[in-house]
Amino acid sequence: MALKLTDYKTQVHNDWCAGCGDFGILNAIQMALAEMQIPTHAATIFSGIGCSGKTPHFINTYGIHTLHGRVLPFAQGAKLSNPNLQVIAVGGDGDGLGIGAGHFVSAGRRNVDLLYIIFDNGVYGLTKGQAAPTLKLGLKTKSLPQPNVNNSVNPISLALVAGFTFIARGYSYEVKHLKELIKKGVQHKGLAFLDVLQPCPTYNDINTKEWFQGMDNIDPKTGRQVPRTYKLEDSGYDGIVRSEDNLDNKMAKVIEKANEWGNEIPIGIFYQNEFIPTYEDRITSRIDNYMVNPPARQDISDNQRKPISTISRILEDLRVDNT
Ligand code: SF4
Ligand code: MG
Repeated sequence: MALKLTDYKTQVHNDWCAGCGDFGILNAIQMALAEMQIPTHAATIFSGIGCSGKTPHFINTYGIHTLHGRVLPFAQGAKLSNPNLQVIAVGGDGDGLGIGAGHFVSAGRRNVDLLYIIFDNGVYGLTKGQAAPTLKLGLKTKSLPQPNVNNSVNPISLALVAGFTFIARGYSYEVKHLKELIKKGVQHKGLAFLDVLQPCPTYNDINTKEWFQGMDNIDPKTGRQVPRTYKLEDSGYDGIVRSEDNLDNKMAKVIEKANEWGNEIPIGIFYQNEFIPTYEDRITSRIDNYMVNPPARQDISDNQRKPISTISRILEDLRVDNT
């Protein structure tokens, strides 16, 4: 029987603030899962700590609420243990690009087949709005006593140089567009990163929904407000790597687009490269039956519940024969 959108919702009380962009992201994830008809038992949502960390509680799949900055190690471990599981990791910009920045970079080198979504609002919302890694230098949100003294991280550029093989940006109030990006990120073969611009109406009074809608960005010719976000696909930009020739050129264009901000903020797919082998491919090249008999399917105890796992086979697989 076909799964409905309501099958992916839970009855857990949601205490996100009214008007929070998190709601749009949550809806988009549920819509994407429903449209892809991913069985609820075949998906797991992992989260870090922060307002976004509560997301798995509201989605009717398996869910693991992990530690601050540590969502990617958990998510990669689960995926490598059970490569048939559909894994989505979520977290805030503070969580993933502050304390979790080391894991973000290391994950890029591996290219494990999962999707990582950052709820990007420029602040640490759960702890009262301190400046988070994507808040621009010199901005003074209402919860800061002084303008932000740190420069900001550019998540798109960082993901590119770290080695992510799918890089996109969505906006939490463009829910249908975001849902399509989530589906593409899930379907991508390799590590996908989705940066989602998400107003925090409680603590970020600069990058608000009205700011993104362009309330103060008036076209002098028409007198109309111009939204600050635009879709890459509508501008003729194509981030998909279709051959490995000219890859440097393609990557240079990603950086160019990633640097656009202010009155023109691109959303959509910046980059997709399926020529890079996934970590699962790399393991399979060493252990033939990894995909059919991954760690999650192996017996670890006998019928007396005595452990039967042995490390000697793993060590044997890793042995380098110098003869
Ligand atoms: Fe959303 Fe900000 Fe409230 Fe957190 S503090 S729930 S990010 S509006
Ligand atoms: Mg944040």
